[in-house]
Amino acid sequence: MTVAHHPTEATLAAFAAGTLDEGRMLVVAAHLAACPDCRKTVRLLEATGGVMLDDLSPADLAADGLARAMAQIDRSDAAPVAPRRAEVIPGLLPAHQALLAPYDMGPWRWVGPGVSWRQVDAPTLPGGRVFLLKAAAGTALPDHTHTGTELTCVLTGAFRHEHGRYGPGDVDEADDDVDHTPVVEAGSECICLVAMQGRLKLNGLLGKVLQPFVRL
Ligand SMILES: [Zn+2]
Repeated sequence: MTVAHHPTEATLAAFAAGTLDEGRMLVVAAHLAACPDCRKTVRLLEATGGVMLDDLSPADLAADGLARAMAQIDRSDAAPVAPRRAEVIPGLLPAHQALLAPYDMGPWRWVGPGVSWRQVDAPTLPGGRVFLLKAAAGTALPDHTHTGTELTCVLTGAFRHEHGRYGPGDVDEADDDVDHTPVVEAGSECICLVAMQGRLKLNGLLGKVLQPFVRL
C-alpha cells in the first residue's frame, strides 16, 4: 500500500498529545494503521511530549484515547482482532476492522444515488459527526463547504479531486476554504471514515438529501 496524503504535522502533534477529539483521533489512527512513517513521527512526538509533560499530573494527560488507539494498531499489526460483533465490513483492512470494532455502527442509510452513510457511535463521540461514507464506483460525492474541518481517511477504494488521488490510508484534511467535489474512481466502491467539526453546508440536490441525515 502506498500512502500519499498524510495528516498535517499539527494534527499528528495533537494526536500524540491526546488533544484531538475522539472522532479525529479515530481517523488519524486509521491513517497510522496504514502509514509506518507517521507512526514513527507520532512515537517520536509522544516521547518528546512525555519529557515536556513530566511536570503535569497524570490527570492532566488526556492520553487514554491515544493509548487505546495505539494499542489497537499494535495488536492489528500482529494479527487480526476478532470484531466485537460478528459483522465484518467487506473490503476493509484487518487493522481498520479492529479500529472500528469497539464502536456501535448504525445501519447504512441511503442518502442519494450510489451514496450511503452509517454513523460510528460511542458515548464518547459527538453524535452524527463521525461516520463511514460509502459511494459506488464513478459517483460524485455531495458538493459541500464547511465552517470547520473535515478529516477523512480512505478505508477502501479511491476518490479523486483537484488535489490528487486518495486511496486506502490516505487522509484528506479539509478546512473551511475548501469547496470540492470528490469523484470515486471507476472499478470499485469507496468507503471513507470521516470526522467533522463545525458546520457543514451541503450544496446541490444530493446535499439537500444528505443534510437532514447529517444534522449539522
Ligand atoms: Zn502518514
